Amino acid sequence: MYPKKRFGQNFLTDEKILEDLVRLINISFEDKVLEIGPGKGDLSENIINCCNSYYAVEIDRDLFNLLKAKFPENERSFINADILKLKPSEIMLDDNFRLVGNIPYNISSPILNWCEKNYEKISDMHFMLQKEFALRCSGNENTSSYGRLSVICKYLYEVEVLKEVSKVFFNPEPKVDSLFVRFYPKYAKIDEKEFQNLKTVTRALFNKKRKKISNSLKDIMRDDDIKKIDLDLNLRPDELSLDDFLRISNLV
Ligand code: SAH
Repeated sequence: MYPKKRFGQNFLTDEKILEDLVRLINISFEDKVLEIGPGKGDLSENIINCCNSYYAVEIDRDLFNLLKAKFPENERSFINADILKLKPSEIMLDDNFRLVGNIPYNISSPILNWCEKNYEKISDMHFMLQKEFALRCSGNENTSSYGRLSVICKYLYEVEVLKEVSKVFFNPEPKVDSLFVRFYPKYAKIDEKEFQNLKTVTRALFNKKRKKISNSLKDIMRDDDIKKIDLDLNLRPDELSLDDFLRISNLV
């Protein structure tokens, strides 16, 4: 079976690395785990017997059939579906579950959006991500990777890079290395109003990334409110911390 590029298939088979990942995820038996894109089941094999409840969503029908044959006792754990179209309730995941996966790089952003939509149900996420994307998720102000995605991720999660994995361990070998990243939700529930305002502010400011914030703030705020901001308005958006963005959002 040839890897299918359209499904972002880059398999990870190195036993030692898989063991490292599972150790980093630190699964306990009571956990409910949902794996995105189990592929040929190499990571799955290391997780499936460590927890009480394991599900995996695989879009590729050929791989889905292979997985069912490979794990006959857990046949019902595998779901042939597109994760982006799936609601956790459809597979009886109504309360907290953990999400893991060496996820297809071409849909990393949509998967993070899916996680945001299901925020309250997810206890944590461990994803293998393309290095550049992972750095954008975890980047701090005043670094080259810092942008809107970093601010949004920092608002929602504690983001921690756990391990770097060279591209040579993947088959087929991708063009870039990967980072294994943990996202730990900061809140039990998102404050929708604050979050929407933060989205508005980060969109407006990062759309004009090289401009002083005084310039872009005019598009979204009244002058009186701009005056109330306790920040140097000559700064550029990539010099602002999450707290700075929140100070602005709370005035919008
Ligand atoms: N976890 C495996 C495979 C990683 S490759 C390993 O580490 O070896 C990414 C996997 O995600 C592939 O199996 C691919 O078929 C699957 N996939 C791609 N898009 C998907 C989607 N929208 N929903 C569910 N699975 C998807």
